[in-house]
Amino acid sequence: MSSAEQGDLQLIELRDVFKSFGKNEVLKGVDLTVRAHSVVGLIGPSGSGKSTLLRCINLLEPVDSGSVFVGGVELTAGGVDADDVRKRIGIVFQSFNLFPHLSILDNITLAPRRVRGVGRRPAEEAAYVLLDRFGLRDKASSFPDRLSGGQQQRVAIIRALAMEPEVMLFDEVTSALDPELVGEVLSAVRELAALGMTLVLATHEMGFCRDVADQVAFLKDGRIVEQGTPAKLFSDPQHPDTQQFLRRVIEAGRL
Ligand code: ADP
Ligand code: MG
Repeated sequence: MSSAEQGDLQLIELRDVFKSFGKNEVLKGVDLTVRAHSVVGLIGPSGSGKSTLLRCINLLEPVDSGSVFVGGVELTAGGVDADDVRKRIGIVFQSFNLFPHLSILDNITLAPRRVRGVGRRPAEEAAYVLLDRFGLRDKASSFPDRLSGGQQQRVAIIRALAMEPEVMLFDEVTSALDPELVGEVLSAVRELAALGMTLVLATHEMGFCRDVADQVAFLKDGRIVEQGTPAKLFSDPQHPDTQQFLRRVIEAGRL
């Protein structure tokens, strides 16, 4: 495959996805395409459906209608094993959710060993490669409560990477952090992007999103209102809702 063809490869595709919680219609016909090795940022007001959209991509939430494809496989077709899907799609949340009673090394190796059947030695060797990459090797035998929030979140990212996913989903991964710890987590995400990992990130960090994303989608009330390159969407938004949202973001000093 030529690099141009590879660049065009659609790794994730959502077609006309609808999702309600009871009477609350949260996604109202979302279409989204994520090319392999690209970074897609999801922005929009609180409650617009960003988290739900991410959760529908890895089947943490079943969609009501529409389809989700990952790597050409329709996840929303009957008979797809959701656990299999989740092995291919890593997700990191605002809250780190590390297992408090396990060391950092065991937090990272648990799923590869239990779910993928990797032996202890190779799982630990792989974990140390990731700990080295993110500057956390010296924390391997520590327990989560000895780490700062930024370090814990980086471990949560490593833990997801240890499953060797094809895609990583990030849901407001810096929102629970003290401001001085945000940078180290954003650097970790930036590093993954530089390595060519396919990323979808819901974020309030507009400056970061503008820097790292190849495409940005603005959501409002369960719809993608506008989508484009960050250069275009942040500097020359077309839709009045996007314009208003970005004006507020700028007023709040967040862009
Ligand atoms: P965002 O991430 O953009 O803030 P969410 O996807 O979290 O938006 O939420 C969109 C809407 O869906 C909100 O009205 C929220 O209350 C609702 N919602 C999200 N998850 C659930 C759930 N598990 N059960 C019921 N309602 C939910
Ligand atoms: Mg959210």
